[in-house]
This record gives sequence, structure tokens and C-alpha cells, in this order.
Amino acid sequence: MTFKIHEFLRDFKIEHALPGQSAKVTEGWIGVHCPFCGGDNFKLGYNVKGNGWNCWACGGKNTFKVIERLLSVSNDKAASIYTKYRGTDKSRPQDRQRITGTGLSTVPWPYYCKPIQEPHRAFLRSRNFDPDKIVDKWGIRGTGPIPRNPQQLRIMIPVTMNGEMMCYQGRDITGKARAKYWSLPTELSAKPIKSCLYGYDEAKSHDTVVVCEGPTDVWRLGPGAVALFGVAYRPAQVRLLAEWGRVVMVLDGDDAGYEAASKIRDELDIVGVDCAVMPTFGGGVDPADLTDEDAAAFMRSVR
Ligand SMILES: [Zn+2]
Repeated sequence: MTFKIHEFLRDFKIEHALPGQSAKVTEGWIGVHCPFCGGDNFKLGYNVKGNGWNCWACGGKNTFKVIERLLSVSNDKAASIYTKYRGTDKSRPQDRQRITGTGLSTVPWPYYCKPIQEPHRAFLRSRNFDPDKIVDKWGIRGTGPIPRNPQQLRIMIPVTMNGEMMCYQGRDITGKARAKYWSLPTELSAKPIKSCLYGYDEAKSHDTVVVCEGPTDVWRLGPGAVALFGVAYRPAQVRLLAEWGRVVMVLDGDDAGYEAASKIRDELDIVGVDCAVMPTFGGGVDPADLTDEDAAAFMRSVR
């Protein structure tokens, strides 16, 4: 679904900035003043290829809500305006392009993703990670309290493929967020998170790749391990795994982990990739829970 953004902004005389006209507006975006969190610095961006809205401060928005707030109109009025500027899509359903990302080669960090602070460090230490090492090796950042933004109070983890940041994922540090992990929505990502493998670049030079579920598992196992961002993998991720000659699966030690690992093994088998499913580490321990010594010993044993 496209939205006739240029006509809309012109017809309603909405102040906006094109790339280069404001520091907040990068290539592929059009910025307006965010009617949700205020300010006059073009924080709310419309992504032209992804047809999605995202505010640098208060997060993603749908077009309908943006119209309602931007024009201060009723729900009904916003609906009729939305209908008027919604592109008429004459293509047959199978011709329509699936939204697979912004189409840009990389995504920038939002300004609110800053160097990690003491609460992020405390979280990492509580899980037996050395905060400085994780920052150095994996380039994480952190967010503070941001009202109404689901990205608040998280460790922000860049997802990099071939040296470019495709998207990022935030790990809650409070234990109170509705979602433990928050991922950048597909329409705002250079590549959807489920088409990426965490740790891909660091694992490329290894003959064997070790597959686990989450970034913290990769931090523990180190270079040579990649994560699927959860147990629900996608075909694109299996295609990436097939780039290695040998794959070792160490998904979490529960039924879902074992089932997914077995399925991936079967899919890799078809394309001739040697894949082993490892038994869990002593009674359902996730890789992230291993000691550094046990993790290093395991990685040596699979090489
Ligand atoms: Zn905002």
C-alpha cells in the first residue's frame, strides 16, 4: 500500500524537510514535526520505499494515526483523508511487491541509542558478561527511559551483514517490559531481521558455524557462532547457513529448540550441507548460561 505523501503534504501545507534539509532527515526519508511527542525538528520520518512512519524519539506510527494527529481531525475525517491519498493499487495481488525493508543499504542509529550506562552494565554483569568486552566486540548501545517508546531501557544490539547495519534489536534490562526483545520493524530495516544472522560477519571466515537462538548466546560462544533471533527461523536464514560447509545446531535446551534444530538439519541435508544437532548442555542450559571456559571448550570441540 503506497501513500501519496507529496500530494498530502502539499495539499495540507504541512511543513516538511527532504533529505539534506534537516540533520534528522536522511536519504529515503521525508521528515515532519512529530505531533505525538512534540518539537519542531522533523523527528517524524516517512520512509518513501517502505511506506512507513518512524519518529526518532517515540517510534513507529501508522499512517492513519499520523493523519489524525498531524491535522488534528476526527477519526472519521482522518479515515476519509487516508482513503483519498492511499494509492490505488491496480496490480494483481501476486504482482505486489512484498515489503522487505527500506531498500536502503544500511540503517542509522537513532540519536537515543547512546553509549551504555550503569544500568546496562549491571544487567550484563548479572549475566556474567564483561560490559567493556561486549561493547568493543559487538558495538552495543543503550537506551534510557523514553516515555511511550517500546525501545526504552534496553541494550541495543546492531545487526550487521557484510559490514552494514541492517537493523537492530533491543534487549530489555528491567525485566518489566512486555517484550523481552524489541526488533526494528521490517519496513524500517535495510533487511528484515529474520533475513539476517546475528554474528554473520564474524563467523564468515570459519569452516564450521554454530547456530544458536539469541545474541547473548553468540556473545558467550564468540566468533563462529550465529543467532536466528529466536527459535522461529525463516527460509532466508537457512539459505545463509548453507554458505558454510558444516553447521552445528545448539538451540535452547527445550522441545521447541530441538524441533527447530532437527528441521533445519533436514533442510540443510537436502542441499548437501553437513549439519549436526548437539544435545543440550547438561539439562537444558542455554549457550548464554555457560561459563566462558565451557563455551570456549565447546567451540574448540566442534572445530
Ligand atoms: Zn515522536
